[in-house]
Amino acid sequence: MPRFDGGMHPLTAQSAYAALSIPRAPTPGPAAQKPSLSGVPLRELESILAPLPRYRAVQVFSWINSGVDSFEAMNNLPLEQRRELDGRFCLRKTALTQKLEDGAGAAKLRIGVPGGIVEAVVLTDGAGRRTACLSTQLGCAMGCVFCKTGLMGLTRNLDSAEITEQFYHIRKFYPDIANIVFMGMGEPLLNLQELRRSLDVLCRTMSPRRVTVSTCGLVDGIESLAVEGPAVRLAVSITTAREELRRRLMPVSAANPLPRLKDVLLRHQRRWRRRITLEAVLLGGINLGGDDASAMAAFAEGLDVVVNLIPWNPVDGLHFEGVPLREPSAAELDRFCAALEGFGLKTILRREKGRGVCGACGQLGAASGKLPEAASG
Ligand code: SF4
Repeated sequence: MPRFDGGMHPLTAQSAYAALSIPRAPTPGPAAQKPSLSGVPLRELESILAPLPRYRAVQVFSWINSGVDSFEAMNNLPLEQRRELDGRFCLRKTALTQKLEDGAGAAKLRIGVPGGIVEAVVLTDGAGRRTACLSTQLGCAMGCVFCKTGLMGLTRNLDSAEITEQFYHIRKFYPDIANIVFMGMGEPLLNLQELRRSLDVLCRTMSPRRVTVSTCGLVDGIESLAVEGPAVRLAVSITTAREELRRRLMPVSAANPLPRLKDVLLRHQRRWRRRITLEAVLLGGINLGGDDASAMAAFAEGLDVVVNLIPWNPVDGLHFEGVPLREPSAAELDRFCAALEGFGLKTILRREKGRGVCGACGQLGAASGKLPEAASG
């Protein structure tokens, strides 16, 4: 989970959007039917490219991870080899279809994948550092009541190429990405194998310290990261540490109760010594009481955590037990922050990042593979 500074952005008006025209493409054509080499870890690439010598695989891997999208650009390979690779493989199986920018450092990219559209987001903090937020699934099965992606249900997992290509599409426009968070559409730990493959690739250019995997709190997946790594940062969407309320807000909580979640977080922290982010989406009138603050403090005891407070970003049609969700008021936020800090918790209040492009936390979710006519780039 990125640590944004919480500065307010003037991003609320539709007129602030800038939809950039992207040359229409890559409806996956013949090239896309060839296997993609993007998102393939180096060790696998060496086998795929055998009997080419290992140093050739290293060269190809470096080119791919630098973001090139054609074999022709790999100018330290003999022309003959570039042609042969081009005949057998492709470097993009996804297609950028639309880019929305808010003019204040946030952008949302809509990327066509077989069967739908995934969304990836760029957010910029007050110091100008950019974070790429990537999706790991097309939709999500977790059903958190405050999240638009949860409304979609799950279509399928993304493969490593579809995950890493989001980063390459982003970096073409924003070469200075400082952090990656897996906090877009989907629950990363339900797609652990492809998540690991994409991390294997991306962590060759980005330190694992700058990479965060965000989960709704799946104990088995966290255990797997604690035992086998990789040593990326962890963010856990806690929302509230009142067990009974959490089960109503996040159905996944029933099978992943808070005591088990805390145990596995302690193991993860002992193993990797990384501060953990607890994310709390703040829902007006629901999870901002004094008992929520004290439960959060009790949960955090013994862990090295920062609590990332995210005022709920409006999404039409989301209800909690029949009552429409609402944003927290300024007074609710002040009271809750003060209560957490009174317990000695470190907090970061993250206000409205990415709302101008509907790319803020909880707002991702293209309903289908087809973009609305008026909005397509
Ligand atoms: S918050 Fe995350 S885990 Fe929950 S429904 Fe949304 S995408 Fe899925």
